[in-house]
Amino acid sequence: MNKYGHVLNGVLLALGLALVLGAELSLTTVEWGVRLLPPVVLGALFPDVDTAFGKHRKTLHNLPVLALFVAYPLYFDNLHFVWVGIATHYLLDVVGSKRGIALFYPYTQEYGLPIGVAVSSEYSTVVTVVISVLEVGLLAAIHVYVIDLVATTVRPEFLALLPEVVRGLLRTAGLA
Ligand SMILES: [Zn+2]
Repeated sequence: MNKYGHVLNGVLLALGLALVLGAELSLTTVEWGVRLLPPVVLGALFPDVDTAFGKHRKTLHNLPVLALFVAYPLYFDNLHFVWVGIATHYLLDVVGSKRGIALFYPYTQEYGLPIGVAVSSEYSTVVTVVISVLEVGLLAAIHVYVIDLVATTVRPEFLALLPEVVRGLLRTAGLA
């Protein structure tokens, strides 16, 4: 996917997530939009920095990089929601192009979808919008049923479904 697609996807996702989180009492939807747009859009652009530094679709297109951006807010209370942009960039590259990404880099095998839509295709904007809408739905479901994305804690109802060992680990990590 090109920069246009990644920015469009980041903007739609940030605004959609603002609608979801705006249902919370902490901030209004508009405030959430203002809060989410920069980190999500910047995150959506970040992986392609590896076109200049490293190997494209490998160095910054992998799960260890995503894990780093998930961990950052938890440990440093910093870079919140950038991981949403990074994750959506990966998804868009996998679905919105013929080529895959090296999810387990430094293992260099690239993973993609055989049904990927070419970046240059006339359908690429439509695909980007559809993916963005589906992602908002997925994040809404995760937020409501699995993890409170505002408090970064596992929902009690979901926690009850997990084995005691996992519950203990999550409590130790401050996630429950
Ligand atoms: Zn990319």
